[in-house]
Amino acid sequence: MIDLHTHTIFSDGELIPSELVRRAVVHGYRAIAITDHADYTNIEQLLEGAKKAKYLEDEWDIRVMPGVELTHVPPRKIAPLAKKAKQLGAEVVVVHGETIAEPVAPGTNAAAVACEYVDILAHPGLITPEDVETAAQNDVCLEITARNGHNRTNGHVARMALEVDAILVVNTDAHAPEDLITDETALKIAMGAGLSESKAKEVLKASSRIACIK
Ligand SMILES: [Zn+2]
Ligand SMILES: [Zn+2]
Repeated sequence: MIDLHTHTIFSDGELIPSELVRRAVVHGYRAIAITDHADYTNIEQLLEGAKKAKYLEDEWDIRVMPGVELTHVPPRKIAPLAKKAKQLGAEVVVVHGETIAEPVAPGTNAAAVACEYVDILAHPGLITPEDVETAAQNDVCLEITARNGHNRTNGHVARMALEVDAILVVNTDAHAPEDLITDETALKIAMGAGLSESKAKEVLKASSRIACIK
């Protein structure tokens, strides 16, 4: 499993990074990005901590990628913060997209897909064809999520992405130990979003490329 979106106790997750990574290893993960909820008030501290979690790579056979999830940041402020995240050493910049489960500001999806420093637009809800097209042009990945609530629009996201060949990734958005999944479950989630088995396998491979893992 390659999981590019998870949370720790440094935002609203339940585990500290070492605990999350250890449990990920047991689930057969090959890479995990630690992407706690970030805005202008906490991005430095989050990345400082997430970067230190790389020490675990010396001990376990897993790639640990420091990152952030820019969350409820006003749309016009997303691009400068994504740039700052990369400057601070984020390997994965996720934007908390317009899930139908929360009042995320309209324009968040558009700001994320237009930004060269954003890697993944998480749970993009009822994303528009225009935003999907821009995501495809800019290689911003669209997320199929395992997370309850956010996953209600997985089918829409998958269908729209297929039309213009936008990159899809499957992430857990894990906040608790029981949220971690295996490759087998990730495949089922991708197929549950309406992808064929071969396309779902291709999607899981896309995550490996992003994590630079063969
Ligand atoms: Zn989110
Ligand atoms: Zn999240």
